[in-house]
Amino acid sequence: MKCRCPAVSNDVFDPIRLTRALLVWYRANRREMPWRGHPDPYAVWVSEIMLQQTQVDTVRPFFARFMARFPTIASLAAAPDDALLKPWEGLGYYTRARNLRKAAQVLLDRHAGKLPPTLAELTALPGIGPYTAAAISSICFGVCEPVVDGNVARVFSRFWLLADDFRKPGPRAALADRLRPAITGCGDPGDFNQAIMELGALLCSPRSPACEACPLRPACAAAETGRQCDFPVRPAAAAIPERHAVGFIFRDARNRVLLVRRDSAGLLGGLWELPGGEIPKTHTPAAAARLVREQTGLAPAVLRPAGAISHTFSHFRLRLSLYTATVASGRIAPSLRDRVRWSPLPSDLPLTTAARHALADAGDGRNGVKGSSKSRSAR
Ligand code: SF4
Repeated sequence: MKCRCPAVSNDVFDPIRLTRALLVWYRANRREMPWRGHPDPYAVWVSEIMLQQTQVDTVRPFFARFMARFPTIASLAAAPDDALLKPWEGLGYYTRARNLRKAAQVLLDRHAGKLPPTLAELTALPGIGPYTAAAISSICFGVCEPVVDGNVARVFSRFWLLADDFRKPGPRAALADRLRPAITGCGDPGDFNQAIMELGALLCSPRSPACEACPLRPACAAAETGRQCDFPVRPAAAAIPERHAVGFIFRDARNRVLLVRRDSAGLLGGLWELPGGEIPKTHTPAAAARLVREQTGLAPAVLRPAGAISHTFSHFRLRLSLYTATVASGRIAPSLRDRVRWSPLPSDLPLTTAARHALADAGDGRNGVKGSSKSRSAR
């Protein structure tokens, strides 16, 4: 999308004289992506939300499934919870999906079902912060606003030897201010932003930057001084705590498994998981059984340990001890039926990653699950 700003001399970027080289490099080397090339604002918006904290190659299949299920803003606005979360299952940060739906409802109510072009209108929508607003407005509407994501911060912390912590809003805003004259003079702000992000992803990688192929190399201070891997500067990460939980794989006579829906507010809200929950590390099987009885109304019998799963979230590690069991007595109370359900496998309900891993083995009749996984799903 061509720039809408009045013409500004490229001299503003002349101190690094590389805007043109950057755009030439990008147009020759950019990766094909389903949301590129035809900047439909809805597709760009969905892709930018999915790309938060997530790599391009991970996002591709999720984007395809989500857009096939919700091809329009109106279809997204009307999505029921399970239908909304199922194509997002495994992508993490589920609040993003719920905010997309909320924002789609606002767009129908106040913006005739279309994304607005200005930064102020975009940042007023649920789930859209300065970064996403800058990306959508520059790519789709030609607004000259720099994006500052992790890739951009890595490139320019090296380029200018900036020691700031770019996870904080202040340094990110200061870097955007520093880049604004350059994007204003470049002629295509969407390509400018995407070029820097692409360069950060393809060349200026965290551990082995390919400086010899980089169009910014002639003026890059880190490359000049051999200090690429000293930037960006990151404070030491704190050790993450560990929590313990139990999960029960119940089967009924029709070989269905019992699932429980998490509260819609909070961690992994609205997703379905195995019955159970957090419990002290040194628990007895009887205490675990009591937990399930209180949660579902069903009393387990023939408890058998079935392995364990370790699942790492962004801010804690979960050790999930699994049991297989049959139902000895009890029934699901009518008041619980919207959140305790028997499901065939594979389930069409949106599952937590831990439940998916546990049931992947349960589905083919194996027991003794043992494994680990890592998730971005913190919300
Ligand atoms: S020259 Fe190297 S360190 Fe500098 S921006 Fe390019 S890839 Fe990154």
